Amino acid sequence: MRRTSILTALLLVILVTGAASAAEPARRPLLISVDDLPVAGGGLHTDPGERELITRGLLAALAKHHIPAVGLVIWGNVKTPDDRVLLRRWLAAGHELGNHSASHLDFTKTGADAYIADVEAGRTGLAGFLAGEDDRKVRFFRFPFLNEGDTEAKLDAVRAYLTHSAQRSLPVTIDDQDWDFEKPWVEARRKNDSKEMERIGDEYQEALHVEIRDQEARGDRLLGHPTPQILLLHANEVGAAQWDRLFTWLEGRGYRFAKADEVLADDAFKDPPRYVGEAGFGLWDRLIALKRTQDARTAVEALLKTQSDAWNRGDLDTFTSVYAEDASFLSPTGLTQGRQKVLERYRRRYPDRKAMGTLSLEIIEVRPAQGIEVTALNDARPSRVQGLSIAAHWRLAYPDQPEKKTAEGLTLLVLRRHGDFWEIVEDASM
Ligand SMILES: [Zn+2]
Repeated sequence: MRRTSILTALLLVILVTGAASAAEPARRPLLISVDDLPVAGGGLHTDPGERELITRGLLAALAKHHIPAVGLVIWGNVKTPDDRVLLRRWLAAGHELGNHSASHLDFTKTGADAYIADVEAGRTGLAGFLAGEDDRKVRFFRFPFLNEGDTEAKLDAVRAYLTHSAQRSLPVTIDDQDWDFEKPWVEARRKNDSKEMERIGDEYQEALHVEIRDQEARGDRLLGHPTPQILLLHANEVGAAQWDRLFTWLEGRGYRFAKADEVLADDAFKDPPRYVGEAGFGLWDRLIALKRTQDARTAVEALLKTQSDAWNRGDLDTFTSVYAEDASFLSPTGLTQGRQKVLERYRRRYPDRKAMGTLSLEIIEVRPAQGIEVTALNDARPSRVQGLSIAAHWRLAYPDQPEKKTAEGLTLLVLRRHGDFWEIVEDASM
């Protein structure tokens, strides 16, 4: 009897396990990308033996979890034959190497020509090296600091260069601060302070978990389905010690380590967003920032439409309701302050429907004011849209009064968010 019940129990376990695995959702693909090869961490690691040890540690963690990674090389940091040996270890382990420029310049502080020259120097150096390694090619470029350009002109210039040189920008969806743990980790290790190392290791894991969960939620909400991810890590010593634990956690969370080509084939990566800003962010943050700008623009266009409709039915109360309580109205005849005073001014100048004519407003340009906010982990991301300035052309026509000439001019409107709505805080009409 006893024997039978054990068998039954075993059978049940097998059935339950089988059922669970059949119902298990597909594992989410994740690309591991590793920046600042051969060894990150600024000038912390000058000893060749230490650089070798770090590289072996990183590669061991990747191998243990069968991860095909992309490593991004700062060619200016490949200084010695030993450094080339380190890069060969990455290739021998089956990883792909991409370009991360020659000197890791900050695009915001660098002109487009100088920046592109540095990226090209990195590409040329790495391409020469890879040609000697089974004729491999440079396919990917990673923007240093994830900074893709602070003006439209710079964004366009670097994208044209990347297309021309057959490099694809390798985006990041999970940006994090793993590099921030390197200095304290190395200091603790050099002092043999194992308690402090343990504390820093725990913090490293916790910080990455928070970022990963957060970006997962942002990407999924944005695209409406579980999205593949690209995690940014750095080739540093704290990583060599912590990656195994991190990768184990990622597997437990339902991730499957995938190759670059598989992840990049997802629609989410098809068209790189035209986000222009002074700081670099992950892909979801860029897309969310652009969506917020578009939403703000749509809301303000609707507001201006409501306003001209009100004007055209002679409803000055509704027309002026979109001005802030303390709005300033500037015109060639002077300054009017406060919504009530603006309304009174309009009533004096346009006493009836006949005097008002038909208003049309044509938007010339819209500029959002969008800064940077900082998360609890001290990580920067684009803020919501705080304000909008709009240059527009206005026109007052009097189709029913042939003796009256059409009036027209320009206006500059400054709007700010007030709760869920937008309101005009300044209006300079001329
Ligand atoms: Zn970097």
